[in-house]
Amino acid sequence: MEILSGLSQSEIEKITTELNASKFRARQIHNWIYLKSVSSIDEMTDLSLKFREELKKVATVSAVKIKVKQVSSDGTIKYLLEYPDGECVETVLMRFDNRANLTACVSSQVGCAVNCTFCATGKRGFIRNLDYKEIIEQVLTIQRDTGLKVTNVVFMGQGEPLLNLDNVLRAMQIFNEDFQIGARRLTISTSGIIPQINRLAELDMQSTLAISLHAPNHDIRQRLMPIENKYGMDELKNALKNYVDKTGRRITIEYLLIKDLNDTVESAKQLAYYLHDLKCNINLIPYNPTEKNDYKRSPNDRIMKFKYLLEHSGKKVTVRLERGGDIDAACGQLRGRM
Ligand code: SF4
Repeated sequence: MEILSGLSQSEIEKITTELNASKFRARQIHNWIYLKSVSSIDEMTDLSLKFREELKKVATVSAVKIKVKQVSSDGTIKYLLEYPDGECVETVLMRFDNRANLTACVSSQVGCAVNCTFCATGKRGFIRNLDYKEIIEQVLTIQRDTGLKVTNVVFMGQGEPLLNLDNVLRAMQIFNEDFQIGARRLTISTSGIIPQINRLAELDMQSTLAISLHAPNHDIRQRLMPIENKYGMDELKNALKNYVDKTGRRITIEYLLIKDLNDTVESAKQLAYYLHDLKCNINLIPYNPTEKNDYKRSPNDRIMKFKYLLEHSGKKVTVRLERGGDIDAACGQLRGRM
């Protein structure tokens, strides 16, 4: 049985050709899947009843189930999705009151091998990669369930996207071409896998690259992110400068603020120095405590002081609005169960 979600128009054409139908039928089916987000072939009402019955014998819309759905008081929705092999991932829809954007935060792997010490997903270890269809099914599920059109996709859910890069790139191509989401509205977030950052530079990627830096120096980063032992900050900086040179794109630096660990004046100064010659914006993220570690959120006055010091160095700095904290949908809280 073919799963229609994730197929390109030419792949759908192969199915319609086998059913002796025209290419135009393939186009109609493609629109129903990606732009109208239907849940069943029965809803494709501009196809004849006879053709729908024939199509149902060889194809279905989706093989993903919503296992749990939680809605936060701020409108964020978190889904636990189950794939046919029983593995589950979380995906989150974030809305921001002051913007029309609907942002899907998608997972790229079941579990994660990178094992950042602040992250609930890392505690599970790595289970398997998602294929590109399983990635895009997350956005289709959101659209089917809400009836809304996702406008932005960020690869910031479970998993390290650059350790599953071929599937992530194929999914991004489909988001761009089939969902008609602009390349600049797609963001890949990575812990800093240098060979793959170099590959993205060669591809001249026009989407946004976000780096989870989270530390101003090697010692603190080593405590937070074991990946620092393999791909250290100095080498990472060279890769990021090369990326900016090749693509012309500004990088986003993600920085979790954890009380007394990386939120001091000294840390802000070190971070400003590390980033001084890199074309980047900085996104500060107040840490969301999980039950699995002792890290604490930085107090607001310290967050503002940290922001001020970085702005003083000439960078554009934002503090990420916290979404979905009451349903564990915030950064670092996803873990593949509810
Ligand atoms: S923060 Fe990202 S890279 Fe690090 S363990 Fe969690 S999912 Fe993996």
